[in-house]
Amino acid sequence: MQQIQHLIDGSSVASTSDRTSPVFNPATGEQTGELALASVADVDAAVASAKAAFATWQSVSVARRAKLMFAYRNLVVENADEIAARLTAEHGKVLSDAGGEVARAIENIEFACGLADQLKGSHSEQASTGVDVYSVRRPLGVVAGITPFNFPAMVPLWMIPNAVACGNTFVLKPSEKDPSAPLLIAELFQEAGFPPGVLNVVQGDKVAVDRLLEHPDVKAVSFVGSTPIAHYVYETGTHHGKRVQALGGAKNHMVVLPDADIDLAADSAVSAAYGSAGERCMAISVAVAVGDVADPLVDAIKVRMEKLVIGPGTDQGSEMGPLITEAHRDKVAGYIDAGADAGATVVVDGRDAEFDGDGYFLGVTLLDHVTPDMTVYTDEIFGPVLCVVRVDTYQEGVDLISSNPWGNGAAIFTRDGGAARQFQEDADAGMVGINVPIPVPVGYHSFGGWKDSAFGDTTMYGPEGIHFYTRPKVVTSRWPDPAGSAVNLGFPTNN
Ligand code: NAD
Repeated sequence: MQQIQHLIDGSSVASTSDRTSPVFNPATGEQTGELALASVADVDAAVASAKAAFATWQSVSVARRAKLMFAYRNLVVENADEIAARLTAEHGKVLSDAGGEVARAIENIEFACGLADQLKGSHSEQASTGVDVYSVRRPLGVVAGITPFNFPAMVPLWMIPNAVACGNTFVLKPSEKDPSAPLLIAELFQEAGFPPGVLNVVQGDKVAVDRLLEHPDVKAVSFVGSTPIAHYVYETGTHHGKRVQALGGAKNHMVVLPDADIDLAADSAVSAAYGSAGERCMAISVAVAVGDVADPLVDAIKVRMEKLVIGPGTDQGSEMGPLITEAHRDKVAGYIDAGADAGATVVVDGRDAEFDGDGYFLGVTLLDHVTPDMTVYTDEIFGPVLCVVRVDTYQEGVDLISSNPWGNGAAIFTRDGGAARQFQEDADAGMVGINVPIPVPVGYHSFGGWKDSAFGDTTMYGPEGIHFYTRPKVVTSRWPDPAGSAVNLGFPTNN
């Protein structure tokens, strides 16, 4: 069985704690690895390494940092298949989906390759006579990243490239459920030539998270995970004086207007609700059917669901893999029970699907006539369950989104440009899709939701990432006016 360790100061390091956590292959239910869980001393060692590295890394030239980032980008591209294989082995997502995750991760490294442009600063010449003012952005020091199980490679790479490109050093605490892909991306970082200590990985659980949140040498924390933990991380980290950005859970709505292209809307709903077994923070979990679009939409989604191939992510034909753990699979199935008991119509029942072996598979479910008081609507299910809420008007759909506590993504499907434009203004969410179900911004924009989907004022990656990982320094300088200078520089005297 694979022993999975920390990466501290450029080397693989065993834990000082004897606590461990099992890692499973969700497609088979077999334990494939044993993960070392960090002690406080392990976290302290990682932070000490990052702090020592920061002393020199912050002054390394922009040109050198960019060269290393390019080298890293190339290594991640070369190893994309291996990263994807590790994602499938421990997360369960199908290989094509895993490849998509790596591709989106690479976008963030490529953005950070352009750090020279992002860090240019600004200059006001002759703000007053003989006075120039210029602003630069300086790194913070040691920053930490705490990441979820559902995008084990991409989410760390939302953080690390920008943080390091800006001159910070980094301690990553990946999810304990699928730690091998994030470990590989950290090993490639070493191979690219970044000095030891610039990126450290501590494997662990709450013990490691709590130590990072209180450690006096950690200056900022980026977190992505569920809303209760995001809230806890935000409160605890800021209480200890740190800069914190904490992205939480979601319940994303897709409004379908009567004039929508039904085939496009149904294709989008199926891929956005069931892709990656619904374990995406941008998954569509509620289709809001406006007026008489409901019946044809439900029929079109149902037809597509019947053709979905569910199986191990390593099978080329699989379109959806297992859920992350047995307990989570059972919890999701429990929501289907609760929805049916509360009066929702079970159009397609994922509990009926049968699978060979001990993998954590569940079929796909479509619940119609869902109302906002049902737990299938109020809770983040994070599984392959799509709820249809029927409303009479566009405004009712918008009001539903506004009254929902989460605000990650929201989408509209329509052929009406005016309605789409109105929706981009009305939607109470941080990321809006127009005929696009999962509007994850490209790497040169930034990612983040509203309301209970994000705590802190700065979203992740892109320009906002650069902002989060730097602090401004403004320099005001005065030099004698050449005209009044004791030395005659030959300037005219009347300016
Ligand atoms: P999680 O909140 O359980 O775990 C996230 C991280 O927090 C992990 O590293 C975990 O080890 C740590 N953690 C867990 N419990 C903790 C505790 N009690 N104290 C301190 N640390 C703790 O989330 P998850 O199940 O790994 O991921 C799924 C969740 O993440 C979903 O809610 C999903 O919507 C959300 N998510 C959000 C985004 C986004 O961008 N908004 C992106 C991906 C996932």
